[in-house]
Amino acid sequence: MVRALFMISVNTKFPTDSHGWAELLPERQARQALSGSHRVPWVVVGAGLTGLACARRLGELHPDQEILLLDARQVGQGASGRNSGFAVATSQFPGGVVLKQIENYRRVNRINREGLDLLSAQVSRNAIDCQWCEQGIYHTAADRMAMKEYEHFLHYLETLEIDHRVLDKTALHDRLGTDLYQVGIHVTGGALLQPAALVRGLADTLPANVRLHEQSPALKIEDGKPITLHLATGEVKTDKLLLAMNYEAPTLGFLRRYIIGSTLSGSFTRVLSKKELASLGSLSEWGVISLHGGGATLRLTRDHRLCIRNAAEYYGSKLLPDKKLIQRKPIHRAAFDKRFPQLAQVAFEFSWSGVEGISRNGTNFFGLQRDNIYLAGGYNGSGISRGTAFGTAIADYASGETSRTVSDCLASAPGAWMPPWPLLDIGAFFTVHSRFRGVGLDR
Ligand SMILES: Cc1cc2nc3c(=O)[nH]c(=O)nc-3n(C[C@H](O)[C@H](O)[C@H](O)COP(=O)(O)OP(=O)(O)OC[C@H]3O[C@@H](n4cnc5c(N)ncnc54)[C@H](O)[C@@H]3O)c2cc1C
Repeated sequence: MVRALFMISVNTKFPTDSHGWAELLPERQARQALSGSHRVPWVVVGAGLTGLACARRLGELHPDQEILLLDARQVGQGASGRNSGFAVATSQFPGGVVLKQIENYRRVNRINREGLDLLSAQVSRNAIDCQWCEQGIYHTAADRMAMKEYEHFLHYLETLEIDHRVLDKTALHDRLGTDLYQVGIHVTGGALLQPAALVRGLADTLPANVRLHEQSPALKIEDGKPITLHLATGEVKTDKLLLAMNYEAPTLGFLRRYIIGSTLSGSFTRVLSKKELASLGSLSEWGVISLHGGGATLRLTRDHRLCIRNAAEYYGSKLLPDKKLIQRKPIHRAAFDKRFPQLAQVAFEFSWSGVEGISRNGTNFFGLQRDNIYLAGGYNGSGISRGTAFGTAIADYASGETSRTVSDCLASAPGAWMPPWPLLDIGAFFTVHSRFRGVGLDR
């Protein structure tokens, strides 16, 4: 049942709304906010995919110890519940294959694969109802620059011997019901999912020694042994603190000048009729990622909606307010009509926005920040598989465990520095804007 649109605001520092994939799910009772004083060996801040994976792993590694997991908002309200739902096994690196980077490509893809396998196992073991569909992902090109990226991506897949299939315009039309794309590649590894349902499912199946508190923003960290975490309604003393706060890590003094939020937005149609669905070709669900970084991502969901996301902007690392969302709708609509003229009568039922954490050089963050304070995050729009692997690995690392994934995460390039405000805002504006350069028909 679709819920009415309304605003839920935890506080002005951590604003949120109910738009997005969560809007398609039944009401959920949030876990109680934290109050009072607590002493625990482990605290994880942030209950997105990174924090959930981290808390789960800590719970498994230390079955006799209590793990506290805190989120400022309700589970599903962060990027992890608002993304487009592509859990990739293979990352696309724009530009031609750089031979010196081959080991790096393999490293990133190993991390992706690890996260995808972890998620697949958790979804199946815990019977999480999140439209999990492990049938691969379509990468498409309509215009000149995306066609160039198509050549690069094909060369990359062949060089790395990654399973894929090339599809021409007719084959794409038969599968997706659109004539827009000249060419595409189906990469067989990768899953589609309903992001809000996934994170809710993961949060509801945490080990018994993990205690989740929602709507519990951590406001201040006091170093020491133990570390003290201050909240508006209480405090927690802990031996080890693991931060999984994505682009909001700077609010607690971490990754300042290394990460910002880029705000993306998209729209969902109403549920399509049988006849409308039949006009979309032979597949019952699919996901398309553009080969141009500014191109649209599209989903035909298991519950028969089309979803399109093709806007991105710097909006101070915040969600778009309703007024702005309404203004973005024509951008989503133009992209939809261009692809599916046969569905011109199908209205959008709602629009949503989400904030992804981006670094200047596209790196991810992993490791020890200060004495007994660890951090993982910042995946530049590709954090479903990777965030799960990073979250699991940071729990291992903080527990003194070693693994191939820990080494792979530790090998992430250092972040590139960003200038302070107001140059930061100007730079961020142009960085986000530049992703649309030459996008043409792919937007
Ligand atoms: C529109 C959109 C589409 C995307 N599409 C895809 C996609 O298709 N595939 C893909 O792989 N990735 C995609 N991404 C990126 C992906 O969603 C993120 O990389 C991933 O969800 C990051 O997970 P996380 O747990 O690190 O961060 P988040 O999900 O952002 O979680 C961080 C959590 O920390 C909490 N928090 C912050 N500060 C505090 C505090 N002080 N106290 C307590 N809690 C705090 C927040 O409330 C939040 O819940 C997309 C992102 C967006 C926005």
